[in-house]
Amino acid sequence: MVRIDRRPVVTLGETMVLFDWNGTVVLDADRARAALNVVLARRGLPTLGEAEFSLRFRLPLAQLFGRLGLPEADHAAAEEEWNTELAATQTRLREGAAECLTTLARAGAWLGVVSAASAAAVRFDQRALAVPAVWNCVDASVGDKLELLLRHRPQRPIAFYVGDSADDLRCASAAGYTAVGVADADSSPGALRAAGAAHVIERLDELLAIVA
Ligand SMILES: [Mg+2]
Repeated sequence: MVRIDRRPVVTLGETMVLFDWNGTVVLDADRARAALNVVLARRGLPTLGEAEFSLRFRLPLAQLFGRLGLPEADHAAAEEEWNTELAATQTRLREGAAECLTTLARAGAWLGVVSAASAAAVRFDQRALAVPAVWNCVDASVGDKLELLLRHRPQRPIAFYVGDSADDLRCASAAGYTAVGVADADSSPGALRAAGAAHVIERLDELLAIVA
């Protein structure tokens, strides 16, 4: 019997794909909502669904608590509870993330993270969520994404940046990347395209067809 080698041929050796972290690879909006809902439920206040959360959630916390009906004298205690819940609540990966990352890595793409989050937060999520260890570079605590993206751009002839905020997409286009926006409840495809997204996806494995 002839055995067929099903390992993919390396085809993405000329391609680099960099990712924003929070809201793109790791979804933390749910974590913020879960923490807020614990605070509200303890006080007998109505909890927020996904759509309502994305409409009403605005920092600073004290003002948010005020709008949601907590008396001012309770804001400090509520904030402490919120922080405790946030630290204890698990984040999750965007749908299709693990498959997308392992497939791109196997095909030889250069993969990286360029994120404003701290290195500790990225490492924590990476371990807690068992994100495939595929990264060629991880840049955390990035204040100026444009500068970082410009610095990485010569790495490979073809480059994509995947992000969930308008700023991600503006920086990506300005630095010569194909900007890919990830859409969900808080970011509409129209807004992402207006900010420079050439493609808009919901699941990360949709990226495979775009990159190939
Ligand atoms: Mg983000």
